[in-house]
Amino acid sequence: AIPLSLTVALEQAGRKGVLVRSGRTLLDLARATAVTFDKTGTLSTLTAPSVRVLRPETVPVEEAPAPADDAVLRRAAAVEQGTNHALATAVVEAAADRDLSLPAVADVTTHPGAGVVGRVQVDGRMRRVGVGNERLLDALGVTGPPRLHEAFADEADAGRTPLYVVDETAVVGLLSIEERVAPHAEAVVGAVRERSEAVSVLTGDRPAAARRLEDRLGVRAEAGLAPDEKVDRLAALRDAHGPVVMVGDGINDAAALAKADVGIALSSGASVSMEAADVTLYNPDLRLVPWLQHLGRRTHRVIQ
Ligand code: ADP
Ligand code: MG
Repeated sequence: AIPLSLTVALEQAGRKGVLVRSGRTLLDLARATAVTFDKTGTLSTLTAPSVRVLRPETVPVEEAPAPADDAVLRRAAAVEQGTNHALATAVVEAAADRDLSLPAVADVTTHPGAGVVGRVQVDGRMRRVGVGNERLLDALGVTGPPRLHEAFADEADAGRTPLYVVDETAVVGLLSIEERVAPHAEAVVGAVRERSEAVSVLTGDRPAAARRLEDRLGVRAEAGLAPDEKVDRLAALRDAHGPVVMVGDGINDAAALAKADVGIALSSGASVSMEAADVTLYNPDLRLVPWLQHLGRRTHRVIQ
């Protein structure tokens, strides 16, 4: 009877587009006392129409005049097209919406929690292009004009996600992306809270973005966490509360998903995360999270 009830539960999950690694995973779900969510790409979504190019006129650019908006977006989308981050997808879609053809790109490196860098072909020459936050500027050794840092801070204060675009050694503009709370996020966080001792959010984004989510969802959000720091926070949550469920999109949080007692990945086509996760939501509907908690508990009761 024991294997059967687990098998039935796994089949039920499968019919909803939920791949659960094993029956053991369901029992771990039943035992878990804490649930933590990733923010970007999980509790929030970003859309192409909300991508704006900011290019203050006064940006001093060495050697050449500053590229126009479309040139900034083309460079950015070229390096982002190979990555799966929710921000990257929005940037690439924004370029497609404007019918921009993307230049050839090589040597793309992602810097988790910071951004992405690659070499992009512009006028027959390969140029270093980076897209990301201040951590990326540090990694590239680029400072950029104070005016753009002010614009970056203004965008972040207004609740948007700004990204610097670097061309060689100069910051040539900003992309500012509007973030929205994901469908059903409020109801899902509420339902999960009823079933859990502790619910929280771990994000690599800035404090202002975390505060905004806290206000909207009434859940504590820790900001500015690099991928390895998310893993540390997960261990701390386990020490404080017991077994932890982590829900993420697998981008920059694969290590935390693997570290969690139960890692739940929203499918975004990133194969790395699928390997790190105990549960994969091929139907990326957040409502499946409380549903899985319920399924785990029902299964647990039956086999007791
Ligand atoms: P979260 O934890 O909220 O999901 P991440 O850790 O994935 O956020 O990313 C944190 C920050 O790192 C982003 O807000 C962005 O500034 C930067 N970043 C990460 N990946 C990229 C990327 N592909 N392109 C540009 N910026 C990125
Ligand atoms: Mg994320």
